[in-house]
Amino acid sequence: MPAKSLEQVRNLCMRRGFVFPGSAAYGGVASFWDYGPLGVELLNNVKKAWWQDAVYARDDMDGLDAAVLMSRKVWQHSGHEATFNDPLVDNKKTKKRYRLDHLLEAQTHEVRAALYEATGSEDVVGLVHALMGQPGNAPMQLHSAQVIDPANGEQGDWTEPRQFNLMFQSHVGPVSAAQGTDEEKAARVYLRPETAQGIFMNFAHVQRSLARKVPFGIAQIGKAFRNEITPGNFIFRTREFEQMEIEFFIKPPQFVAEGEKNDEQWHEEWVQQRYRWWLRYATPPSAGNVEMEETESRFRKRAQAADELAHYAKATTDIEYLFPGALGWGEIEGVANRTDFDLSAHSKDVPEEDLKRLKLEVNKDSNEKFDYFDPDAKARYIPWVIEPSAGATRALLTFLCEAYHEELVKEPTKQEIDQIRSDAAMIRKNAEKKVKEARKDIEAGKEPKHQPDKVEAFLAQLEDVVARLPASLDEVLLALDHEGAQNLEPVKKFRPPTEKFMEDCTRTVLRLHPALAPIKLAVFPLKKNKPEIVELAKSIKQKFQKHFRTVYDDSAGIGRLYRRQDEIGTPYCITVDFESLEDGTVTVRERDTMAQERVAIDDLHDYLLPRLEL
Ligand code: ATP
Repeated sequence: MPAKSLEQVRNLCMRRGFVFPGSAAYGGVASFWDYGPLGVELLNNVKKAWWQDAVYARDDMDGLDAAVLMSRKVWQHSGHEATFNDPLVDNKKTKKRYRLDHLLEAQTHEVRAALYEATGSEDVVGLVHALMGQPGNAPMQLHSAQVIDPANGEQGDWTEPRQFNLMFQSHVGPVSAAQGTDEEKAARVYLRPETAQGIFMNFAHVQRSLARKVPFGIAQIGKAFRNEITPGNFIFRTREFEQMEIEFFIKPPQFVAEGEKNDEQWHEEWVQQRYRWWLRYATPPSAGNVEMEETESRFRKRAQAADELAHYAKATTDIEYLFPGALGWGEIEGVANRTDFDLSAHSKDVPEEDLKRLKLEVNKDSNEKFDYFDPDAKARYIPWVIEPSAGATRALLTFLCEAYHEELVKEPTKQEIDQIRSDAAMIRKNAEKKVKEARKDIEAGKEPKHQPDKVEAFLAQLEDVVARLPASLDEVLLALDHEGAQNLEPVKKFRPPTEKFMEDCTRTVLRLHPALAPIKLAVFPLKKNKPEIVELAKSIKQKFQKHFRTVYDDSAGIGRLYRRQDEIGTPYCITVDFESLEDGTVTVRERDTMAQERVAIDDLHDYLLPRLEL
């Protein structure tokens, strides 16, 4: 079973140094995250696995690293300055701000049905369109349909929805002019909201410098920035993130010869290649057939409906992952057939019929025409493009959720389960008393010691977990971490022995693909007060650290050291013992199966390398 909630993954990330909140000493900035020692290794490995598949494994791909800041004209002609907007709406009562489509998606079926009826639309996309298209009417329509604020479950007092541009602005050089003046506009730059435009800008450079023939593609990994209205769900939606994008340039349909792939076939090929990549790295080599099928059931390809498509896209297939908890299915990559829109948008001298077809204005700023002479077709054309666009940081979250496992390593006895039940009953009794006291305090106008709603929410969660024991054993600690459980005395008392019991019965293991694992190998001495054993263990570590991330640890007993490495996904641990000194062999222990094998130190390299799939 993968993670049951994003909380589990988030707790592990903070506890073990994968991801930390940014600027924490100053209370943090909304939705900016720092990648810690293990997070940066994992992120680098995700990017490496992508680059390997997108660039090295193919004959028709090259890499690129374009600047983050580009001419403002790029974003004017790409359409971002005018249309890279999200619709935003505020609740005047709670002062909460929502992306209109997200707010509508969070409503009950009945509320949405009322809005569909009132506006004549059939889905959320149409609804957003209708509400934005009737200035003045939207607040009343949202009111009549009784649109709820998800923050408090009560009907909101909604403002007129308005468009909000998602690009962060900055300026090149010292500018003191006010926003919107010619001087300000001339110096304005945007932090790129996608890496793709850097690739389009370099299409001709790459094609000419490497004498590439269409079809060929360019891959790029880099930071992107979006001033998201409602970031959240841990690192799922952030304002600074990393993308892994490909622009694959192909012949326009009219030049495709017999036996060559057309745009639809190239699109399908990329959807398949990218989907296989996600599955490959979501599945550890130890997985059997049943587990592979289960993993696959959490990934899907979803073709966007006609009204979801950007106007220039002929087709887009999203690859989605079933994230745990309320988040559910979420896009992890979009593979779009963008036709000749982008290269035409940045080109001068585009024929009028093409501008009309693509709904583009004449580009008077560009001094390039991004066309290509095709020696086979003996024709000059602006290539079409297939764009697989994935989030690197979102990929990291996906792989963590899928790899996260809490396993039973020792069957708990009936008495132990009964003990948890009776402790939970004691907590309940105490908490119910506290709820009553708090309610009385509130009535009397006094500051309550506990928040009754939160305590009740905690009790509901605890009851649900206890009712499902022993299957829900891995959720007991999570329930005790509930914000409603804070400052409840029996919870404080109950937690340490439960933690100890959980450590004996269960283990947390990140079943990451070895190529993604932040640390590949950990070496332990059986006895840290035996210098010969320590020396040998350290020499093995030194031998391998040149090739991949290897650590040495002697800070606890072997059992505990194994657990610590399991929790961060280290695929192999080596223990050096007395026998090692005599016969030159060590114990190699595999993370998922916990199987142990004696391997000669001289054979370790050949043993580990293929298993790590580097
Ligand atoms: P959404 O509709 O959810 O805002 P999008 O369709 O605009 O997303 P794309 O522009 O297609 O997203 O971006 C390509 C990929 O970049 C996404 O599949 C996702 O993996 C990643 N991505 C986009 N926005 C964010 C973000 N704010 N935080 C993290 N990753 C993101």
